[in-house]
Amino acid sequence: MSLKCIYCNRLVFGTNGITVPNKGPAHQSCYQANTALKRTFQSLDISALNDAEFYDLKDLVLSEANERDRKKLGKSDAGDIELF
Ligand SMILES: [Zn+2]
Repeated sequence: MSLKCIYCNRLVFGTNGITVPNKGPAHQSCYQANTALKRTFQSLDISALNDAEFYDLKDLVLSEANERDRKKLGKSDAGDIELF
């Protein structure tokens, strides 16, 4: 089993080492530096999506943003649902 950091490729020693899920060992400092640069949202690594997936996500986010804007403007009754 290799104990080389997945970021800097140097050996990881016990105390400052962590294991990145599905990836491998890393130095804590390397991991922190990397996650600060990485575009992740909750557990989703956005930079790991392929183009099709990414544009799907973008559409979803944009339509959600539009929906929220509509609600803020008090036009949520634009739909046909009647509340009792
Ligand atoms: Zn490292």
